[in-house]
Amino acid sequence: MDTHVAEKQYIQVEGLSKTFKLKHPIIDILMKKPRKLLKAVDDVSFTIEKGETLGLVGESGCGKSTLARTIVRLYEPDQGKIFFDGLDIAALEGKALREERKKFQMIFQDPYSSLNPRMSVRDMLTEVMLFHRICTRSEVDHHIAELLRTVGMSEATAERFPGEFSGGQRQRLGIARALALNPSFIIADEPVSALDVSIQAQVINLLADIQEALNLTLLFISHDLRVVRHVTHRVAVMYLGKIVEMAETEALFKEAAHPYTKVLIKAAPVLDPRNRTREYAIEGEPPSPINLPAGCRFNPRCSYAKDICRREEPRLEEVKPGRLAACHFPLIA
Ligand code: SF4
Repeated sequence: MDTHVAEKQYIQVEGLSKTFKLKHPIIDILMKKPRKLLKAVDDVSFTIEKGETLGLVGESGCGKSTLARTIVRLYEPDQGKIFFDGLDIAALEGKALREERKKFQMIFQDPYSSLNPRMSVRDMLTEVMLFHRICTRSEVDHHIAELLRTVGMSEATAERFPGEFSGGQRQRLGIARALALNPSFIIADEPVSALDVSIQAQVINLLADIQEALNLTLLFISHDLRVVRHVTHRVAVMYLGKIVEMAETEALFKEAAHPYTKVLIKAAPVLDPRNRTREYAIEGEPPSPINLPAGCRFNPRCSYAKDICRREEPRLEEVKPGRLAACHFPLIA
């Protein structure tokens, strides 16, 4: 097993794929039709440097969350490698995997999924830290006070239960729970999309501050490009299970290379209502991931599509230094 990666490339995902088998209706079985497959993540590769925040964007259903869950082995990958600080965690099992898992944590859209509603904040954090041997029982209270301070909550909140908090506070607790294991890599999966707009900025700023203060490596997943622009160093754009463009954040927003990125940016809501132009919607629905079009997956919706786009699938390639795009006619080549 080749476990060597360049030191800078803290997370290195290589050729990762994840397919789900769909229900096999009786009628299809009787007619001897094969079971349908959904390729949610298809041969995805990327790296994240230590202390970097990579944004992962795309319409809902494009495979972002499946990719995240496959990276942390909540889903078993069909194939591919996931190097975490040089170690291929896709090849780990049992105790070795559990040990490594402590170092990467997820923050979910719905923090309830990681908070036990029947436990006080103190009991919940205590259980997590003692189970994973993060500290001794005598050190727990000190750690809890520190965690709550880090996420901007008072120590008194430790005696309360998740149901007593607002959505924004619960997300702060979700972040505290993730930080309780001293992770070095965090995947934040749509962490603010369920929150009021007025609260979103607070949680985003908190995450950005924590990322910088703790030098965390972050994969930030969102369908909201405004948020991604604010918080990430680089962005990967996903469409129907594939990464179609990757670039530094500001360069991407200034000049997208892939036609899909271009319409995604155009369709993003404008934060300042004074600058709001007409609403723009991406034309058409994405094709079914069970029945992908031949050639480029974006071709049925792309106004630049030519014959070759309907025949050959473009590879993700460098179209400019530091800029990757999977398009036969990248717009900045
Ligand atoms: Fe559009 Fe062709 Fe590029 Fe696909 S390969 S995005 S269809 S121009």
